[in-house]
Amino acid sequence: MDENVKKTRKPIETSGHPRQTSYASYDNYPVHEGNWEEMVYTPVATRFSLWAPTAVAVNLRLYHSGHGGKATRILPMQSGENGLWTLNIDGNLKGMYYTFNVHTGGKWLGETPGVMAKAVGINGNRAAVIDLRDTNPQGWDKDRRPPLHSFSDIILYEMHHRDFSMDPQSGISQRGKFLALTEEDKRSPWGDKTGIGHLKELGITHVHLLPSFDFSSINESKAQFQYNWGYDPQNYNVPEGSYSTDPYTPETRIREFKQMVMTLHKAGIRVVMDVAYNHTAQTLEGNFERTVPGYFYRKAPDGTWANASGCGNETASERAMVRRYIVQSVCYWVQEYHVDGFRFDQMGIHDIGTMLAVRHALDRIDPTLYIYGEGWAAGTPRLPADKLATKNNIRHMPGIAAFSDELRDSLRGPFGNDSCGAFLAGMPGHEAGLRFGIAGGISHPQTSVVPTQPELSSWAAQPTQFISYVSCHDDLCLADRLKTTLPASTPSERAALQKLAETAVLTSQGVPLIFAGDELMRDKQGVANSYRSPDSINAIPWKLKREHNDIFRYIQGLIAMRKAHPAFRMGDAGLVRKHLQFIPTGLDNAVAFRLWGKPAGEEWENIIVILNANRFPIQIPVSQGTYHIVCSNGCIDLENGLGSISGSHLPAAPQSAMIAHQ
Ligand code: CA
Repeated sequence: MDENVKKTRKPIETSGHPRQTSYASYDNYPVHEGNWEEMVYTPVATRFSLWAPTAVAVNLRLYHSGHGGKATRILPMQSGENGLWTLNIDGNLKGMYYTFNVHTGGKWLGETPGVMAKAVGINGNRAAVIDLRDTNPQGWDKDRRPPLHSFSDIILYEMHHRDFSMDPQSGISQRGKFLALTEEDKRSPWGDKTGIGHLKELGITHVHLLPSFDFSSINESKAQFQYNWGYDPQNYNVPEGSYSTDPYTPETRIREFKQMVMTLHKAGIRVVMDVAYNHTAQTLEGNFERTVPGYFYRKAPDGTWANASGCGNETASERAMVRRYIVQSVCYWVQEYHVDGFRFDQMGIHDIGTMLAVRHALDRIDPTLYIYGEGWAAGTPRLPADKLATKNNIRHMPGIAAFSDELRDSLRGPFGNDSCGAFLAGMPGHEAGLRFGIAGGISHPQTSVVPTQPELSSWAAQPTQFISYVSCHDDLCLADRLKTTLPASTPSERAALQKLAETAVLTSQGVPLIFAGDELMRDKQGVANSYRSPDSINAIPWKLKREHNDIFRYIQGLIAMRKAHPAFRMGDAGLVRKHLQFIPTGLDNAVAFRLWGKPAGEEWENIIVILNANRFPIQIPVSQGTYHIVCSNGCIDLENGLGSISGSHLPAAPQSAMIAHQ
């Protein structure tokens, strides 16, 4: 039986409730209060619900399989309060699959697993009746988040599952899967630690996973190579099937995701999920449109889908039930999967109210859960600029951070022109942008201008609202950018600049983010948008840990220094203004600063940092005294130091950083 072949038949009337199928505006849509569940399983009965206030009929279809075959039962649901359609089915339905089909606007919209499915079959087309308790790995009840004292202690590591483990020389068995991050003590053929052991050795505090919710671009039923970043959401509340060892069995992807989180937590590493609530892969064929047409998306005045995302649609977070949806979804990932934070893709499409509601809801669970996002959008969202969760409005969103394109672009060069360099390429004029980034984007007497926005003096109210980085999955990674901007450079010159760039990031008062593999000087063969490129481009070759061991050790040393010395991560704008002072260098391509007055817990007095992008050595004036050098000319040694200098000047070698203290 198929609803679509019975177009002449009136939808089955299922109850005596009067129905309203259209509302004056989206503000008039009824709001479903309470927990938004679409399937609640018990061994004796399963309750199905769907919020579909414009429906005139909703059918529930039950299947024995997650794909193929005919529905075993097609049952009309009953219309209830606030647009909620419900149906109770007695008996034990565990192992069954289901879809909804909504009739509105004179037609059946087509099957959907709903908008809140928590378990799905292959490719996410049908939802599954499961008991979530069956998905908890052994020891899950004892899983705890690693302690986090302050957001300023965070060091982020941005990773795609496949990039991190696909190289056969990773020594990992479950390559490209969630389980890759459960394999401890793995090594490359050269004896270097890989996988989770590498992360522990590096010292990062948070792994930021590229989209790991169910996305649509990869056919989960095909074994051959497929790669995608995954910014094409299908089911927001289910892990992606292609990262599981068995995408057909609904419990498997859920259990394996939890195993991954649990192992990372045991290793002392928190887990951040990259979430993309700003758009969906499909529109008319997607779950939102097949449930409540029009409600979840913004439109342009001409009636076309608003497209600030650049992906065909943009969601309408400002509407009551879309906001509730986003808030409930992140809370679900925290509570069911023990996720520790979220990176919001194109956060500038969402409204401020929604992001504050997310912060508020997470605070009630655990205020150490971290939230940050891209404070911009690919296009112009259909909402007034003062309502949007953009970088410029971050001051109105306490506890939420945004990426700094100022620090990134001052180091590597502008967005949209890959061959144009900046500070690292030895081009003058980027010192102010670097200082702004070092101060963590706050208002500071010596960083009076946001380089890209002269009308603003700063955008972050606190340095923990500012993500410091030089490269991420988007655009050329750092090694490639150095090649395009310095085509005549030697490998050793680029290696030196890689270290200099990460020194700026890791001595910034903002929250540092490292793109996975930059610590090994990975490249992507010049591919800037590798969202579906082969493993030969995207996967981190672990032999680089041997070839560039020197860079790895250097970045490891920077991380250890940052963790051991609170002066590098004061976490408070007032403290940064008090203790961070820039030193005039009188030179292009050089930035110097001191961290003085020993903020609480700091042992080093008068820390001097010099970043020199010139091809010649420089001398920077400092107060007369004896300085102990910990970092110089591409070497860092926290334990023994690199000697002392007495006098009123400190040197910095070409294209390198100098860090010393009294
Ligand atoms: Ca999928």
